[in-house]
Amino acid sequence: MYELFKSPAFDNAVTQFDRACENLALDDWLRDRLRFPQRTLIVNCPVRMDNGKIRVFTGYRVQHNLTLGPGKGGVRYHPDVDMGEVAALAMGMSWKCGLAELPFGGAKGGVAVDPVNLSLSELERLTRRYTAEILPIIGPNKDIPAPDMGTNPQVMAWMMDTYSMTEGYTTPAVVTGKPVIIGGSLGREEATGYGVAYIVEDALRHFEKRIPGTRVAIQGFGNVGTYTARKLSEMGCSVVAVSDMQGGIYNASGLPVLKLLEIPRQRGRIQEFKEADKITNSELLTIECDILIPAAIGRVITKENGPKLRCKIVVEGANGPTTIDADDILEERGIPVIPDILANAGGLIVSYFEWVQGLQEYFWSRDIIFSELQKRMHNMFRKVSDYAKEKGVTLRMAALMLGINQVAQAKKIRGLYP
Ligand code: NAD
Repeated sequence: MYELFKSPAFDNAVTQFDRACENLALDDWLRDRLRFPQRTLIVNCPVRMDNGKIRVFTGYRVQHNLTLGPGKGGVRYHPDVDMGEVAALAMGMSWKCGLAELPFGGAKGGVAVDPVNLSLSELERLTRRYTAEILPIIGPNKDIPAPDMGTNPQVMAWMMDTYSMTEGYTTPAVVTGKPVIIGGSLGREEATGYGVAYIVEDALRHFEKRIPGTRVAIQGFGNVGTYTARKLSEMGCSVVAVSDMQGGIYNASGLPVLKLLEIPRQRGRIQEFKEADKITNSELLTIECDILIPAAIGRVITKENGPKLRCKIVVEGANGPTTIDADDILEERGIPVIPDILANAGGLIVSYFEWVQGLQEYFWSRDIIFSELQKRMHNMFRKVSDYAKEKGVTLRMAALMLGINQVAQAKKIRGLYP
């Protein structure tokens, strides 16, 4: 089975899992069961391009574990998407749902494509074909996709429409992260980034530091990066560096975040902002700052740059941005890492609110959504930091142990079938 998923991302996820299982002294059969996905689907999606030619794209949907409820997890459109990466991300979703105590299992999907190179109508045809291919295993009670890197509310709208047309009736709860007008939740778009900012607030308090003037560097200026930057600057932090796929910008006295938000995000254009120094993505990671927030792709903090980081705390907005080697280096250097399954859980939590609202066809106000989100994020941080102290482990290890244990205990209680 391992050969199917072998990749740097999957190896990272499995090593983290194995370390946490040792600390939990989990039964061997549970380790064997939870190390690999419950179900995986590979689909081939032929798409007619605008020039009349047909291209075939490979897509995936992986359901890592469905013990706590229907699968939940984003759909990524990126050229590097492969089975190992999707399986690793699906596993992370299982622990994230367990940690957040939500009634979901872990899942993830993706298509190996660079969406920047597709026209809007090509993107729509690809999305509809991919949805049609994974249709047998998704649904409001089976598996509920959401946006991730390279996808957005419009993509979710096409997914929901394709599913609904096949079923014969409108089914808003089949995806989350869709536009509000067709049953999306207020606040979903901001939720992951705002959640990251709430966790930065907790981390600063935990490590007895103050918010005003805290210098923040953010890699990735998409959904997560922009809303994190906006909320942190509202809170009084100084955002000194940001970047996108083409590179970044830096100003030691702080960047004007509201102005940066006006720059169109597609294709990576942040360096068009002239009133700052240009930096590369790797320079951004080693800039002197208080909080470093990777919010783009995985495995960017490595054994090569780990010794050179000059931040005081890492807060993982992206999924899997720190390799195992780098994790060990940062622990040795006394740089705490607030792990992805805690720091970026805000999107998942508001996706849960969206799913509930869709099933009930009753919609909540923005105030209720953000106060519930804030309460849950702060409680999660407290739960993880208390457990880390009690067990004498890092925050990552504590979060993983709590998430894995939730799934493992549910699995034990439900028992085996048949
Ligand atoms: P997005 O597509 O909206 O934005 C991605 C950003 O990263 C863009 O600015 C892009 O230019 C940049 N980028 C792409 N490749 C890069 C590279 N090689 N180096 C540096 N920057 C690069 O994606 P997003 O939704 O903001 O997701 C970002 C990360 O956050 C991903 O790891 C995703 O899994 C994670 N995440 C997203 C959500 C969510 O709700 N969107 C929730 C949890 C976790």
